Amino acid sequence: MRIGHGFDAHRLGEGDHVVLGGVRIACDYGLVAHSDGDVLIHALCDALLGALALGDIGRHFPDHDARWAGVDSRHFLRHVAALAAERGWRLCNADLSLIAEVPKVAPYIEAMRTNLAADLDVATPLINVKATTAEGMGAIGRREGIAAHAVALLQANA
Ligand code: MG
Repeated sequence: MRIGHGFDAHRLGEGDHVVLGGVRIACDYGLVAHSDGDVLIHALCDALLGALALGDIGRHFPDHDARWAGVDSRHFLRHVAALAAERGWRLCNADLSLIAEVPKVAPYIEAMRTNLAADLDVATPLINVKATTAEGMGAIGRREGIAAHAVALLQANA
């Protein structure tokens, strides 16, 4: 078995939506990023890459590469899933925590799980998504950005 951890954060800025877990959520701000800024997927990719000892998402998808400008981060996740499968690893489970004062994501959690499970080609019960606020403390509490943590456990195929 192999375990990996991922963390990501992006600033909030001007915009009319955010994308979290592949779900587009309409709001009166946006995430500042080279890609679509999906912190939840970026943290999950880093957890998986960590378990595989393959570096981090920035190494695989450099933010100075125009190919990834505005890209749907689900593309990154499917790529990382393929790297794991090619190397003979399958996902046992992944647990994700979103830390955001806004938006309220509870109505979108199940859609996020469905997206992530589909991209990883696993059953939805293997993916957990949690969300919490920072209780008004610090940069996230001041709504300056959104962060996410993820852990993933991989098992070698028999
Ligand atoms: Mg990121």
